[in-house]
Amino acid sequence: MSLTYDPDADLTPLEFSVTKNLAAKTPAERDEILASPAFGTKFTDHMIDICWSVRGGWHRPRVQPYGPLSLDPAAAVLHYGQEIFEGIKAYRHADGSIHTFRPRQNALRLQRSARRLALPELPVEYFIESLKALIAVDGAWVPSGEDQSLYLRPFMFAKEAFLGVRPANKVGYYVIASPVGAYFAGGAKPVSIWLSEDYARAGKGGTGAAKTGGNYASSLLPQAEAYEQGCDQVVFLDPDRNVEELGGMNIVFVYKDGSIVTPQSDSILEGITRESILQLAADRGHTVSGRAVSIDEWREGVASGDIVEVFACGTAAVVAPIGVLKGRNFFDEQPLGPLALSLREELTDIQYGRREDRHNWLVRLDADA
Ligand SMILES: *Cc1c(COP(=O)(O)O)cnc(C)c1O
Repeated sequence: MSLTYDPDADLTPLEFSVTKNLAAKTPAERDEILASPAFGTKFTDHMIDICWSVRGGWHRPRVQPYGPLSLDPAAAVLHYGQEIFEGIKAYRHADGSIHTFRPRQNALRLQRSARRLALPELPVEYFIESLKALIAVDGAWVPSGEDQSLYLRPFMFAKEAFLGVRPANKVGYYVIASPVGAYFAGGAKPVSIWLSEDYARAGKGGTGAAKTGGNYASSLLPQAEAYEQGCDQVVFLDPDRNVEELGGMNIVFVYKDGSIVTPQSDSILEGITRESILQLAADRGHTVSGRAVSIDEWREGVASGDIVEVFACGTAAVVAPIGVLKGRNFFDEQPLGPLALSLREELTDIQYGRREDRHNWLVRLDADA
């Protein structure tokens, strides 16, 4: 069985069969949802569904009405968690056109996640075609309000009915979409972070760098602890007490001399928001680097004034300044500065077409550009 995707093999373009949702929301119902989207509670009228099998490779690409999946109770994903996903947004520009941001990076990351979870690699072109096919039927669901977007959730899981433990021979790839507003109520207001000392999100050689549901499942208990402590999010350490990341966002430190450092290790998910933000900062002349940052360096750096800003970033929330770091026996207020918000503004200006896209990061989804 070969799970690897050969980038040189000729790809047959996908031809989606389209089944329209006869119970689609009316324009009035849709507008009501778009007027005040929450996060991830309402979904568009259609979804993408592509099958994979050892024998047939990727096949049966379909656009179909959004709705429940029918799964055998023995489907491997339900027992062993063989699952990966992505998160990417579609943005409406002032001229009505619809764009997404660096989809190749998400497609490549989905391939890396697939390799780690022994799932088949979806070709990059198929990933991008799947987003375009969904926008072709549900483009009207991309909202146009400030900070609003259509959150696209591609995901893949083992659907073979088999209780033996091995990579599944049958897999499904899907894309669903949800109109969203600001992730944290209150926009970019500083978030408070709980330092988890009893739990880890990843281990050496584990799945920390893959976007897989299991990492999130194991973060839920520490996240609940964070809420009990009155905090918005949880931050994890590695076994050497180096800072790793939040449950679903990367972390970035800004130093007094203008240099910017982000934790780097094999157990951290490589965020595309982080990479893009660091590129924008480097363009402005900041020195940017990835290395281990211990919890002591963080706390001492804030105490001494050496660290002047700390922020979290990811597609869902974009950039969130960190206002408080709370631990079992400390409560450290964090310095707030202008950089997090100005980088956030520059990035969202590019995404929404308000500023020149000098790195060619945008890909148009609603027409062949
Ligand atoms: C998705 C994710 C991020 C952020 O990645 P982006 O590409 O910036 O959205 C960070 N950490 C984890 C654990 C994630 O799953």
